[in-house]
Amino acid sequence: MIDLHTHSTASDGSFTPAALVDLAAEKGLTAIALTDHDTAAGLPEAQACGAEKGVEVIPGVEIAVRWDGGGAMHLLGYYIRPDDAGLAERLEGLRIQRRYRAQRMVALLNELGVGISFSRVEQMATGESIGRPHVARALLEAGAVANPGEAFQRYLSRGRPAYVQRELPSPREGIAWLQSAGGVAVLAHPSTLRLGRKELERCVEELKAHGLDGIEVFWSGHNRGQQETYRDLARRLGLLVTGGSDFHGAAKPDIELGRGLRGNVQVPDSYLTALRVHYDARRTGEGN
Ligand code: AMP
Ligand code: ZN
Ligand code: FE
Ligand code: FE
Repeated sequence: MIDLHTHSTASDGSFTPAALVDLAAEKGLTAIALTDHDTAAGLPEAQACGAEKGVEVIPGVEIAVRWDGGGAMHLLGYYIRPDDAGLAERLEGLRIQRRYRAQRMVALLNELGVGISFSRVEQMATGESIGRPHVARALLEAGAVANPGEAFQRYLSRGRPAYVQRELPSPREGIAWLQSAGGVAVLAHPSTLRLGRKELERCVEELKAHGLDGIEVFWSGHNRGQQETYRDLARRLGLLVTGGSDFHGAAKPDIELGRGLRGNVQVPDSYLTALRVHYDARRTGEGN
């Protein structure tokens, strides 16, 4: 079994890249993709540990792109070249926007009478990619909320008083950024777009026209029916099928690495083979 969607302390997960790979080895996983938000900084450590423990670590990243449908559109990039200068620069730009957003969120919280500081939020983020979960941790520490979920519900979710929208690339740009670094671009957790079947099909067709390579069919938040819908869509549009738990460790304690939510994400090695074949074919194609 494999897990193609995981987060480490390089972004908002609670396991260091090495600890994440250790856990994967303990669980008997043959491969994981490390897909931190807007950073590739965890990859060297994860890959070194993977080589030692016999777990293949696929270099990945997860980015958010502009989407005014109300939900979140996230893209996963697989087999990116972590040292690609163009991608590194773009990810850095995204992280600067993250910092700026966190500062504005803290200012809004302060106006609401919640006393947390940006420097504390920064300390909560051990890596270089600051996210809302780090703001949530600071809120929790300050006693402003009883748990991270409450931090999102009361303050940080879209539509709540401390929500700040950060600047994002368009879907077309996001796909191009990942692919220009050699990556395979996959639409993450399509359920979070909150579209009906027809609308989703139209949306994914448009993404495909921009070069999208695949859809994340298996994900902790997807039920059986959604898995079937997305698998069907992938088949019809000739897109790759991927899957992963979106493991974050303590931040989302119900989600288990390699198993998802109560075992709803179990991805066999053959999915990685297909991903690899697709990647190799494109690379060879480029070489011609
Ligand atoms: P960001 O990328 O900074 O916008 O933060 C998004 C991250 O926050 C997601 O990847 C989740 O890890 C986390 N998150 C989003 N909504 C919630 C929630 N309701 N409760 C806990 N964590 C959440
Ligand atoms: Zn996350
Ligand atoms: Fe995501
Ligand atoms: Fe994720």
